[in-house]
Amino acid sequence: MDLEEEIAKPTVDEMSVRPNLDNYQEMTATFEWEDMYSELDWLPGGGLNKAYECIDRHAEGPKRNKPALIWEGKNGEQETYTFQELRRETNKVANALNEIGIKKGDRVFLFLERIPELYFSFFGILKIGAIAGPLFSAFGPDPVRDRLEDAGAVALLTSPDLRERVATIIDDLPALKHVIVINKDGRHENPPMGSKDVSYETIVGAASDEFTIENTTMYDYSVMHYTSGTTGKPKGAVHRHLAIVQQYATGKWVLDLQEDDLYWCTADPGWVTGTSYGMFAPWSNGVTQLIDESGFSASRWYEMIQRHKVTVWYTAPTAVRMLMKAGEDIPARYDLSSLRHINSVGEPLNPEAVVWGQGVFGQPIHDNWWQTETGAILIANYAWMPVRPGSMGRPIPGIRVGILDDEYNELPPGQDGHLAIRSGWPSQFHSYWQAPERYNSRFLKGWYITGDKARQDEDGYFWFMGRADDVINTAGHLVGPFEVESALIEHPAVAEAGVIGKPDPIAMEVVKAFVALKEGYEVTDELRRDLNRFARTKLSSAVAPREIEFVDSLPKTRSGKIMRRLLKARELGLPEGDISTLEDD
Ligand code: ATP
Ligand code: MG
Repeated sequence: MDLEEEIAKPTVDEMSVRPNLDNYQEMTATFEWEDMYSELDWLPGGGLNKAYECIDRHAEGPKRNKPALIWEGKNGEQETYTFQELRRETNKVANALNEIGIKKGDRVFLFLERIPELYFSFFGILKIGAIAGPLFSAFGPDPVRDRLEDAGAVALLTSPDLRERVATIIDDLPALKHVIVINKDGRHENPPMGSKDVSYETIVGAASDEFTIENTTMYDYSVMHYTSGTTGKPKGAVHRHLAIVQQYATGKWVLDLQEDDLYWCTADPGWVTGTSYGMFAPWSNGVTQLIDESGFSASRWYEMIQRHKVTVWYTAPTAVRMLMKAGEDIPARYDLSSLRHINSVGEPLNPEAVVWGQGVFGQPIHDNWWQTETGAILIANYAWMPVRPGSMGRPIPGIRVGILDDEYNELPPGQDGHLAIRSGWPSQFHSYWQAPERYNSRFLKGWYITGDKARQDEDGYFWFMGRADDVINTAGHLVGPFEVESALIEHPAVAEAGVIGKPDPIAMEVVKAFVALKEGYEVTDELRRDLNRFARTKLSSAVAPREIEFVDSLPKTRSGKIMRRLLKARELGLPEGDISTLEDD
């Protein structure tokens, strides 16, 4: 097909139906996922491969010279890659991986900073039909070893500095045959070379930039993601190439991605948001995205939005709370008017944060809900729908969400219960790596049991209560920690709050809150009294915290989630359990 013919073909945007205020009800009633299949290109051999949908199909069409990736390095470097350039770079990696003997189905892990080569490698792995396993670059040796061991990884792509950090574990891993060391721009003068090591620059530099993508089927495995570890030991959720269907659809429906967007997802690929929405959703939609190697900084983030004219932004409640903590003077110094649509995921978004967003950005932040296991967004506040602050929103077309009682029967609206999804959505995980019992235990009576508790209102909006394990039973009342935390952070001095149930001989449990203050506030008896009063007026006396403890910060996972189980273990002097994903202070 020549270029002219290609241009005459309707763009995906013209073909696509998006839910909106008028058609949402009808679309949720009639939509079938197969309706979406024709918006993907599929492989010439009839298979499905995420790398083809995200890169090659654009590199072969009118978007070939459109920037796919705009990168800002931690030393101020700037690099831009078009879809065509991404195709060549990922082809080279695919050839290099094949050359050293890596093959379809092998687990290949990435332990890298957010550099362009991470993205080239990730899609190179997918092109040969291997399974990509991304890791947080801040991990120490133990979390890296545990995951590589569990997955039986055959290769690790890493940088010289990170290679040194985990040097002690490399020889402990018999299945690991190759350590591919990426020395970006010669950042490291003298990269160490162990017996399993090869230089990325050498093998990729020598490789051809032409490659025929492995004819993977939609059922073949593509990505393996360890969960955040908020409630316990992280589990290796495995996803199929088919997930791209829903990642593509939700990029359009929920993130509202459009042709000329400049999209920024602030999540690291070590967390599922950084792959499903920091790779698959934007690129399958052919949208340009910004990748920032550095971590959080309030003023730099606002500056990035201003300078790159970011239009769609996907972030997390923990980042929003950090921006709130830094105050409103900083954003007032920047022009943030390019922003059209802001989204958040990972934890409940406190109503206070929605209100704050309205003040600072002139628009609400849109909360949405999903999990590592679900692979893509399932419940959302949409751009076209009035946001109900504190609600996760409504289901996307093509899935069914239920609230179940303890026997896993569906409850009517208005009642608290287990949040569950009717099994069979495209981005559904397909196993926990080598843990079939654990996987099977999540499916009951045709439902996938999410482990969260929630309620549905009469209008079909879902409201998060808490993790099933975190819900507190005090004097016969069931209390969701989210409700208490959201009330506390409405107090002007409070930056964040974590709430647990503390065993009590009379009430069974009492509500205890851990509170971190905003900059400029100090713990005084007066503040303590004021906060207690504030909580009692906001919440009923049964729900208001019996105890409030002030802390400098709350323990969080690397994906930014408050680890209530750790607050509780520490409070009760119990073992801390798996803390491999605990963020450093
Ligand atoms: P682990 O399963 O290892 O304990 P995790 O559940 O935190 O870790 P993720 O898959 O990253 O791992 O997170 C999914 C969970 O995050 C959800 O089950 C829910 O508890 C929480 N979550 C995500 N988005 C939202 C949201 N919008 N509102 C409330 N909770 C959310
Ligand atoms: Mg979970």
